[in-house]
Parts: sequence; structure tokens; C-alpha cells
Amino acid sequence: MSQDTHALQLPNVQELLELAGLNATDLPEECNEGSQAYAEALYLLTRMRFEGEESQSFWDEILRHHQGLNLILGRDVGIRVAVCDYFMNLHPKMRDPVIVEVQVLLQKEKGALVDELTGLFNRRYFNDAISREVERFKRFGQRFSLVMLDVDHFKRFNDTYGHQAGDEALKTVSSVLHAAARTFDHVVRYGGEEFALILPHTEGSQAIAAAERMRSAICAHPVPVNGQDIAVNVSLGVATFPEDAINARDLVSRADEALYEAKRTRNTVCSYSERNRRFPRSPINLVVLFTEQAEEFLAEPVRVTALNVSFGGMLCLSSTAMLPGMKVEVALDVEAPATRGLRVAARVVRLERESDSGSYQVALSFDLGSQEERRDLVRLVEMHHGEA
Ligand code: GH3
Ligand code: MG
Ligand code: MG
Repeated sequence: MSQDTHALQLPNVQELLELAGLNATDLPEECNEGSQAYAEALYLLTRMRFEGEESQSFWDEILRHHQGLNLILGRDVGIRVAVCDYFMNLHPKMRDPVIVEVQVLLQKEKGALVDELTGLFNRRYFNDAISREVERFKRFGQRFSLVMLDVDHFKRFNDTYGHQAGDEALKTVSSVLHAAARTFDHVVRYGGEEFALILPHTEGSQAIAAAERMRSAICAHPVPVNGQDIAVNVSLGVATFPEDAINARDLVSRADEALYEAKRTRNTVCSYSERNRRFPRSPINLVVLFTEQAEEFLAEPVRVTALNVSFGGMLCLSSTAMLPGMKVEVALDVEAPATRGLRVAARVVRLERESDSGSYQVALSFDLGSQEERRDLVRLVEMHHGEA
């Protein structure tokens, strides 16, 4: 943190929110302290996103401006007026703001995130929620799982009982999912007859158990159609962050792959990791530095290009040959200072010469011991994600 920021005499965020007539409970739980909380407080008032430190200096200037306005006008104009004047006239960031009661705004924002037919959250909400969970993992190391769910033979259901009965079936499935989920799970209509559940704080085996609970609850709730009870079945695919994928997009693909697998039998749960126990690889585009501590084979550090990475190891392209069995330390932060000196102990497990380029493909195996190393690796892959 810079010295400038220390010099600011800002009230704490709770006091600021009180001044603005807002509630500290409106802040997201993972951002209710530190400089990020000042950014969140500005977001609550302006719906504009700023970095934490920048927000602190904005707040400093806004508070001074508020005092100035009060002095000139001889009355308290309120923080919101000061914020509005500041971002429109002193430090223009808003050109055409609208004044709206907060309850109306919240209602509209909520409406934009909810599916009309089922009342569940929609795809737009899903994208935000899954990114928030990835952020939470990066900050607190809290893993989470994703369940993708698809209604079985739903075309046939529509064809047999009609589209309206189909809509009723989707509503039944939604309310069963909603009732079976925990309060902090996110239940989403992903599209058509597909649903997604984001399960915070949930490991693979727990997620499989939850998915199984959902599957049997749906079986146990047939849909009433013209006085008849019609059974509906679903197939479910489960994937867990970060074991099965280390970014949101890949996690969705892995849960989808598991769902695809479940569709081979239908009315069943399949998990990605059960099917594929090895750590998944993410493509990466990054130069890393190999150092052989023993200096038996490499007299000095060698720069190589990383091609893909997983929690189990890394595949690299090197112009220098390496000996299988050789122990190296890999510096991952040569071009990625955000990883704060991430060094991983590794062993060369395979070496292959590429016939066209003459370079070597070097396969490494490494063991990421600490949670911190895992989080750093997630950040690294995010910053240097390459083409698959
Ligand atoms: P599978 O078991 O392989 O998933 O077969 P399926 O018939 O469920 O899969 P398919 O993707 O072929 O069909 C999905 C059907 O879901 C087709 C579409 O008309 C129906 N559907 C999608 N959204 C809605 C909706 O909002 N209401 C109704 N009634 N039907 C919908
Ligand atoms: Mg489908
Ligand atoms: Mg289907």
C-alpha cells in the first residue's frame, strides 16, 4: 500500500455507508474490509467499478467536496449529492446518470437476473456467481462444486403432453431443486431444460451426494398432467474447483462432459473426477526458468516455454535437453510477478525431441504442497491462459 493512502484520514467503511444512508450488510461478505470495501461502497452508490486504492482517494476527495458544498450552501447536501457532483463535474466519470429510488433499482437488477418461467436465477447471474466463487477461492482457498443438470427425454415429454405441460414440468423441477438446495447454493436455469447448481464450500464427494439427492427428489415428484402423475427424470454432471479445472470456463466444460457421460444411461449422476482421476491440464503461454540445484546437468538456469500446466505437473518446450529423473526448481514468476515468487520443486519425467523444430518437449511432475501455491497457480493460469 502506498504512503499516500496511509496519509488519507478516511472514516471506516461502515461510517461512510452510514453517512450515505446505506447499510454495512449491503457489502458482499468477501469484500467488507480493507481497501476493497471502499470500492464496494462506491459501487453501491454509483454502480461503477474501481480498484480499492483508487476508491480510497476518490472517497477522500468526495468527503472534502462534501464539506466544501456544505460550507457554500450553508446546509448539508448529503453524501450522495457530493458523489454525483464529483463524478459529473469535478472528476467526470458519469455523463448521463439517472436518479432512481434504490428499491426500484434493486428490483430491476434482480429482475434482470431471474428466469421468468421458473423464478430461478438465469445464465447472466450464473456467470457472475461462478466468477465470485473463483475469486473466493483465490482469496480464501474455499473450493466449490458445479452440478449441471438436464431433463431426460424432454422433447418426448413435450411431444406427448404438450408444451404447456412441459412448462409445468420445468416449474416442478425448479421448485424441487430450490427446496433441496441449501440456502447459500445458487440454483440456476442455465437454458431450455438445463439447470446448474453452484455449491459453495463443497468438495467432490459432497457434491456427488448432493446431486444424487437432487436426482432422487426429482424422481419422487412427478408432474400432474390432466389428472395423471407423469414421472420426470434428470441426468447430472458434477465437477469441482480446483481439482477438476482451474478456471470457470473449464469447470463448466468438465461438468458438461460429466453430464454427457451421465446421458449414456440417463437418470443418473456422473462426476468428472470419478471418470478422469488425473489432474486436468490448462494450456498456458509463459516463459519459466529451470534451475538444477545439483548443477550436474545444467550449469546455469535455462529459460523454457511452458505449454500447459496442472496441479500435477507441466509440459514445456526447451531448446536444451534435460535428463529424465533430473530434479529442478521451476521459477514461474519470470514474467508473472503477480505470483509473488512462485517456485515449484519438480522432476523431469519424460523428454521427447520434436522432429520438425529440433526442440525438446519436457514433461515435469511437481507437487504443490501448500494451499497458497495452489492459489498462485490458479492466478498464473488465469493471466497466461493460452490456446488449447
Ligand atoms: P436428452 O434425454 O438426451 O436430454 O433428450 P431431450 O429430448 O431432453 O433433449 P433435446 O435437447 O433433444 O430436447 C430438449 C427439449 O426441451 C426440446 C425443447 O423443445 C424443450 N424445451 C426447451 N426449453 C423449453 C421450455 O421452456 N418449455 C418447454 N415446454 N420445453 C422446452
Ligand atoms: Mg438439453
Ligand atoms: Mg434433455
